[in-house]
This record gives sequence, C-alpha cells and structure tokens, in this order.
Amino acid sequence: MYDIRLENVTKKFGDFTAVDDITFTIPKSSVTVLLGPSGCGKTTLMRMVAGLETPTSGKVFFGEHEVTNVPTKRRNIGMVFQYPVIYRGTSVRKNLELPLLSEKLSKAELDKRIDEVAEILDLTSVLKRQVEELDNGTRQKIAVGREVARQPRIILFDEPITNIDLTSKLELKRSMKELFGRLQQTIVYVTHDQTEAMTLADQIALMQDGVITQSDSPKEIYEKPNSQFAGWFLGNPGMNFVPPEFIKVSGSKITSPLFTQTIDLGSKASSVDTFGVRAEGISVTSSQAKDGVQARVTRKSIGAGGQYLLDLAVGSLLIKARVSHSIGRDAKDSVWTNIASENITFFDKAGKAL
Ligand code: ATP
Repeated sequence: MYDIRLENVTKKFGDFTAVDDITFTIPKSSVTVLLGPSGCGKTTLMRMVAGLETPTSGKVFFGEHEVTNVPTKRRNIGMVFQYPVIYRGTSVRKNLELPLLSEKLSKAELDKRIDEVAEILDLTSVLKRQVEELDNGTRQKIAVGREVARQPRIILFDEPITNIDLTSKLELKRSMKELFGRLQQTIVYVTHDQTEAMTLADQIALMQDGVITQSDSPKEIYEKPNSQFAGWFLGNPGMNFVPPEFIKVSGSKITSPLFTQTIDLGSKASSVDTFGVRAEGISVTSSQAKDGVQARVTRKSIGAGGQYLLDLAVGSLLIKARVSHSIGRDAKDSVWTNIASENITFFDKAGKAL
C-alpha cells in the first residue's frame, strides 16, 4: 500500500484560493477523513489526489512516485461519489464482477472477492437481483463494493452517504467501518458530517478556508482541539465557550465564577481570552455541593444512550451539560456544577488553544 503525500499543494480558481499551500501526509492502510464546512476545499483537495484537478502549484506523491500530472486512469484508485454509479440493466453480481474481469483472476479468486464484499455489505441475498429493483442505499452499497473488490491501493470517497435515507446511512456506515478494518486499503473520505468522521476515521484532517487546521485521531481532536473552530465543529453539541467577562486573570492565576479552583497558567495566562469545556466536562449534582457553582436548569432533553442534555444558566451565561440518566432525571430547577481543570481548554483572542 502507498501513503499519499501532498507537498505545498495550492489550487486557485481565478483569483480564489480553494486549497492554500497544504503539506500533509495521508498514511497508508488507514482511513483519513477530510472534514470541514461547505466550501472549505475538501473536495478540491480530494480531486487533486484523484487527478481530476491539477494543482496550481505543489506536488502529489503516491509513496515515492510523483503523480501530480499523471492522469486519473493511470493512478489505480477507486472512487465512490455522492450519487451511486452503477451499471443498469444487469444484476448486482455482474455490477461487482465487471470491473474485475480485466484483471484476469481465477474463477475462485473472482468469486472469493465478490462473496467477501457482498457478505460485509449485506448484499449476499440480492446478488441475483437487477439493480433497478433496489433502493438508493443498496445501490450505493454496490458502488462501494465494486470499488473495494477491485482492491486498488487507494480509494477515495466523496460524501458517499449524504444522499441516502437514514436507515441505509447507518447500515452503510457500519459496513464501511468493517470493510475498512478488514481490507487495509488507504482511504480518503470527504464529509462535512462530524459524526461520520468520528465513527470512520483513524485520522481526521479538519479543514477551514483551504487549509488543514488540525489533524489527529478522532479522540485527540475531540478532547484537545487546537482552536475554537475545532472545539465548535466537533461534538454534538459543540464545545461551550465562556467569554472574557467570566474570566479573571491575576498574574499567572485564572479564576472564574464557573469553577471553584484557581488555575495557574504561567506565562500563558496573559493571553487568555476565553475558555472551552465540553458538555460532558461539566459535573452536575442535584444536592448542594461543598465546592459547587449554582446553576438554573432552563431545559432538559434526553438523548442517545439515555443521557440527558441540560441547558444551564450560570448568571447570564448559558451552557450545556451532558449528564447520566439518573442525574438528569432527578435534576430540578436548580443544580450544582463544577468544572475540573483537565476539562478546560483556554484560547487566545485569535481562537488558538493555549
Ligand atoms: P462542499 O461540501 O460544499 O462541496 P468543499 O469543502 O468540498 O465543500 P470544494 O468543493 O472543494 O469545497 O470548494 C471549495 C471552494 O472552491 C468553493 O468556494 C467552491 O465554490 C470553489 N470551487 C470549487 N470548484 C470550483 C471550480 N471548478 N471553479 C470555481 N470555483 C470552484
């Protein structure tokens, strides 16, 4: 397998810079998700890896080979797009088989590849059906299966589950996770959906305005965002941000009406503008705590896994806390909160983590 290396890659459309001087390595045999809001340049970056766009400047390497100007058909990559590309008028099996015919595989190897992807994608029972008879979600599974069965070294996915119904989405996400784990191809996966990224990625490359602002494992990027943007974009809800009027800096020491301890930030203290805390980083109790900050419950909602999301008001500040089922169920109008130091990320005026 190959890793993919981008060296100072820029793509301009007229005066507009869609991808701005990116140097980045996509490791081999792993899943890298390009994540970011609409228009941040993820598809353009992926299209340059595919050879569907040529960089305005910079180079693209597959392993040691420079491919910047190599046409798509000579890059030996698989691609899955938003809308399923299928061969109409044929069966599911034929759809999976056709791209393999040119590879001159033995009948046993051909059947093995088809049966394996069909099994993981739950297509075994429909192998003989005509593709027209199947819904959009199943057609997208066929498109995925066909690219995976060819076993190219690199497969690129551009928002492959954006346009399918919710049930198929969950199913396809589960099957892709299994496929990626078993087959160990180098996967580049573009999405604007952070839950999809958190589920599928080994590595998330978070993009904003044509640059990669952070790349890390899902856990690392969620727990240690290097910017307010990363804290806000990942997580549902995104990170709570506490503005300067709730933060007091005296020399190297930080205090806040949101927590009861004093935090020593050393020389970084003078740069503090705001701090962030995840909803699950706020501890909540129903009874008065010795070390606690009183908060008013303005809204309660129950979420996945039976956990509660509480909207809390601490003075004029509104924050969200995620709590266990029993704490959420018992929470009345008033609760006691606190935030442990390790759950706090401080940011400077530019939104950069300190
Ligand atoms: P989306 O999810 O909305 O596709 P994205 O992050 O994938 O967003 P890109 O499709 O890479 O974003 O587009 C990045 C920017 O480049 C956008 O502002 C887009 O309008 C612009 N752009 C992309 N392709 C072209 C093109 N062929 N000509 C002109 N501008 C383009």
